[in-house]
Amino acid sequence: MNTTTPNHRDFETYAKSFPDAKGYFGTHGGAFLPPQLVPAFEEITNAYNSICHSAKFISELRRIRKEFQGRPTPVYHCERLSNRLGNCQIYLKREDLNHTGAHKLNHCMGEGLLATFLGKKKLIAETGAGQHGVALATAAAYFGLECDIYMGEVDIVKQAPNVTRMHMLGARVIPATHGLKTLKEAVDAAFEAYLNEYRTAIYCIGSAVGPHPFPMIIRDFQSVVGVEARAQFLEMTGMLPDIVAACVGGGSNALGLFSAFLPDPVRIVGVEPMGRGSEQGQNAASMTFGKPGVMHGFESYMLQLEDGSPAPVHSIASGLDYPSVGPEHAYLRDVGRVEYTFATDNEAMEAFFMLCRSEGIIPAIESAHALAYAIRYARENPQGGSVLVNLSGRGDKDIDYVAAHYGTGEGF
Ligand SMILES: *Cc1c(COP(=O)(O)O)cnc(C)c1O
Repeated sequence: MNTTTPNHRDFETYAKSFPDAKGYFGTHGGAFLPPQLVPAFEEITNAYNSICHSAKFISELRRIRKEFQGRPTPVYHCERLSNRLGNCQIYLKREDLNHTGAHKLNHCMGEGLLATFLGKKKLIAETGAGQHGVALATAAAYFGLECDIYMGEVDIVKQAPNVTRMHMLGARVIPATHGLKTLKEAVDAAFEAYLNEYRTAIYCIGSAVGPHPFPMIIRDFQSVVGVEARAQFLEMTGMLPDIVAACVGGGSNALGLFSAFLPDPVRIVGVEPMGRGSEQGQNAASMTFGKPGVMHGFESYMLQLEDGSPAPVHSIASGLDYPSVGPEHAYLRDVGRVEYTFATDNEAMEAFFMLCRSEGIIPAIESAHALAYAIRYARENPQGGSVLVNLSGRGDKDIDYVAAHYGTGEGF
């Protein structure tokens, strides 16, 4: 059943050669930084290249993943859901069962461990919906580090439960009070703080975005997802899946799953949020509608206004409403190795309820986008095949919003 992708064999040594020394994946990526920050980012790059490949770092990270995070997370075969749709079999990589309920902790624990190896005292980051802030505050508590999370004043009000979580975990939540008081302003504030504190602190980004070396570091820390899933799927079925799929916000959970399958004869599909539709401002489908542009210190496909500034975006999933995308995804699309498609808010909600009712799993609305693609594929290909979906997180954070706007899923 495997559809042979023409160029998958070109990817056997890919991870070793991408990004290049300047942080480029083809024409995408790089590090667009204020000159004062260049030394700080060079320090992180050099430290990463030496420390993170040392036996001591690797064995410590393995121990943390096993004993603290609860890895490996399982691969699960959705038999009832698959049977409802036809003969195509849907499988999930259960990152919702990772400690804190999503994949983000995979890179936060790596970043925290890197900070301790460097002798840093503090982790600094911005957060939008608060998911990255909570995961990083968790890592900081584990390693006994201070944690400053910059968050727009508007988001602090909207995401009150995550602010409470960060406080309970011992982090400081510092409001960004200028401009629109949301994610962009929080990024500015976090960069400014890092500029003043980089000798004692380290900046920790929340997805496979930002200036080099972050897209590479985040991909590498997330790659455990794909390495585990590939071995588990082979053990369960004796075969590789026909398709692997994941939702794409900044792109970290997707690269985590995809990287292990790049050299395989497997179709790889990234699923972007189409929100309420294709008009500007109604979606966050940067690969589908974006043009090359620079934002937050890196070059990639970006949804932009005529003057080149980031366009307003919408997705029902707050973890997906980002007007750009990690530069490695832009490259993988350019060379045709990964296909990018989309799911609307309503398709994601249908998938959300189908998974609740058929399998007893409440998914994050972000992850429901990837599942929506798998459901669409299974309906269109009822004769057979298999799709492995990255279930990037659990949906507990979403239930109040879903119940208020969509009810509790009667009829699914
Ligand atoms: C943050 C988040 C995402 C989106 O981030 P990526 O970097 O694109 O993976 C997806 N799923 C969940 C559950 C999230 O919390």
